[in-house]
Parts: sequence; structure tokens; C-alpha cells
Amino acid sequence: MNILIFGPNGSGKGTQGAIVQKKYRTPHIETGVIFRQNISQGTELGAKAKEYIDRGELVPDDVTIPMILNRLKEDDCKDGWLLDGFPRNLTQAQAMYEAMQQENMKLDYVIEILLDRKTSKNRIMGRRLCSNDNNHPNNIYIDAIKPAEKDGKPVCRVCGGELTARDDDQDETAIDKRHNIYYDTETGTVAAINFFKAKDEINVIGVDGLPGVKEVSEVLLGKLK
Ligand code: AMP
Repeated sequence: MNILIFGPNGSGKGTQGAIVQKKYRTPHIETGVIFRQNISQGTELGAKAKEYIDRGELVPDDVTIPMILNRLKEDDCKDGWLLDGFPRNLTQAQAMYEAMQQENMKLDYVIEILLDRKTSKNRIMGRRLCSNDNNHPNNIYIDAIKPAEKDGKPVCRVCGGELTARDDDQDETAIDKRHNIYYDTETGTVAAINFFKAKDEINVIGVDGLPGVKEVSEVLLGKLK
């Protein structure tokens, strides 16, 4: 099963992605995670990506597109994948579509989580990352996934691990820039989604991201076979 998942930053895309990943047991490939791993490992790619990420801008397409298309060719992806954070603009969507056609690969689902800009922004600022597992969702502003507490300190609600906030999640200017890219209907992420919607053979599933995690996942899983 090959799946793309879209949603503005803060829409719960990562959380829902982890749930979909469990259903199909495909690798969950997140562009942002790959970049952040490279940054923490001090690689050349990480150094290049960091300056863009810190400003809330997209890492250039000539770095991102080959990185992801190569990742999808790795062994663990041969029975399917769930891709999150790519494509993020129209150019990336076109490159991905062409590459998939060349490889005779089918896109089974495109998931779009719909959420307004203001709610997305609040949710981003409350997001916390678990040091043990990126798929352990925690958010100080969402009751269903509020962190637990240990010795008066917030800890991961799933495993009790240490929590951190991403620098780019606390920077309002960077958040606004990321949302400008997402909601851009000309060349941005919404343009990429519309590109897939215009293809008859591609099944695009829209889900309202406003209800709680469980309600959203029930609707979403109900729409996937
Ligand atoms: P995310 O974790 O998805 O919010 O991504 C964090 C940051 O990584 C973004 O703000 C971008 O700077 C960069 N990034 C993630 N995905 C892409 C992509 N498909 N193209 C370019 N830059 C990306």
C-alpha cells in the first residue's frame, strides 16, 4: 500500500500517520524526521537543511526530491510506504508523480487532513517530542494527548520519556511561513494536493481534523480499505 498523507503543520498529520502506519505496517517516512536526524548526526545534508528549517522555509527541491525518491527505493519500502511531509509543493508533486509512473508504482491513497490555520497554529505551539519514539504523540493543548507528569515535569504520556519542543514549533514567524507554504493554492502544498485531485486514477480522501485524535482516526480508518 503506497500512501501520501497531507495536512497543515499542527493538524495531527503525524499522529494519524502513525495510526495508518500501524494498520498497514508500512514504513512511515517523514521528510522532517529525516532532516532532523541528519542535523543531529551532523551530516552535510543536515547542515544544509538546518538553515532553511530554522527559517521555516522549504529545503531546496534539488536536495529534497532525490533524497525522498531514493529513500522510496530502499528495501523496506518494496511492499509499500506511508509518506508524510512530501510532496510539499507543486514541483515536488509533479516529480513524484513522474517518478512513480516511470517505476510503474501505484499511489493507493492520498489522505488530506483538513484544518483551519488558527487551530493548526495553536496545536503546533503545544506539540512536544518524545525522546524515545517519534510516534508517541504529546501536546500540552490537546486533552487526548496531554503529557503525563513525573516529579512535576511533563513526560511522554506513552512511555514516560523526556519531552522536548522543536525550536521551529515555538517561533511564530516560522510557523506562519510554513502555513503560507501549506495553504498556497498556486505553487504550495494545497496546489500539490489539487494536482493529485485532478488525476482520476488517484483516490484522495479528505478528513476533518478538528475533532479529537480518536474520532479523526475512526473516520479515516473507515475510509481506508
Ligand atoms: P516537518 O517536520 O514536516 O514540519 O518539517 C520540518 C521542516 O523540514 C520544514 O519546515 C522544512 O523546512 C523541511 N521540510 C520537510 N519536508 C520538506 C519537503 N518536502 N521539502 C522541503 N523541505 C521540507
